[in-house]
Amino acid sequence: MPKPKNAMDIFQHLDQSNCRECGEKTCLAFAGAVFLGKKKLEDCPKLDAGVIEKLQTDSEDEKTVEDNRVEHLSRLKAEAASLDLAEAAERTGGRFDGRKLTLKILGKDFSVGVDGNLYADIHVNPWVAVPFLNYVIHGEGISPSGNWVSFRELKNGKERYPLFQKRCEESMKRIADGYTSFFDDMVHIFGGKETEKHFEADISVVLHPLPRVPLMICYQRPEDGMESVLTLYFDETADKNLDIGSIFTLGAGLTQMFEKLSQRHGVFETAAAG
Ligand code: SF4
Repeated sequence: MPKPKNAMDIFQHLDQSNCRECGEKTCLAFAGAVFLGKKKLEDCPKLDAGVIEKLQTDSEDEKTVEDNRVEHLSRLKAEAASLDLAEAAERTGGRFDGRKLTLKILGKDFSVGVDGNLYADIHVNPWVAVPFLNYVIHGEGISPSGNWVSFRELKNGKERYPLFQKRCEESMKRIADGYTSFFDDMVHIFGGKETEKHFEADISVVLHPLPRVPLMICYQRPEDGMESVLTLYFDETADKNLDIGSIFTLGAGLTQMFEKLSQRHGVFETAAAG
């Protein structure tokens, strides 16, 4: 059994009954949580012990997801340390002060130094750090065209879209349904900008998780017995500036941040239960 490359590799070994005994709403959500290191395979009581052992053994000599993530981040930092940061700043829409390249992430400063170390106004966690470094190292620096496309229309987005839809769009929709100040908070806390309505949405807000990778959240309220709809759109140039894995990570990270925020407001549980 090869090492899981993505959540779908884990999903295919699950019972797929969506019984929720693991605490997740679906087997697909559980697979995503295991892949991101938030759940353990053992949390699914229906998974055969032999399959668990095989999956873990084949995961690079039993390294944990966290070990792999830390290693991956160290490699990216080393790569960043060998870059010409002045050139990278120009290419990525950032600024360079001789010591650090700084970008605005959701309106806050986030920097990488000439030594490869990261500095930030916000908590440095992997969902920001990995896409940030991939953007700085590999981004082509293409300016957004203003044409919005869904995740599945981006290069290599189609096969990951079912998981992206579950993990990001459906979770964010549940938050938006119950958290009335959701869009106001995005505008005020995260430097978002409400924009003209797109794709028949009632509300469209544009955020900049990276300077040249804008993201638009479109929300259509529930109406006449129809459920609400929330879709994330990216500029059609997003896959030139960032790999699809990092785009997924940004979406999942943002969703997680909004979930925490809404829980702090004490409204998410009410919405989820309703
Ligand atoms: S406990 Fe296992 S079978 Fe049930 S929902 Fe979770 S992953 Fe799926």
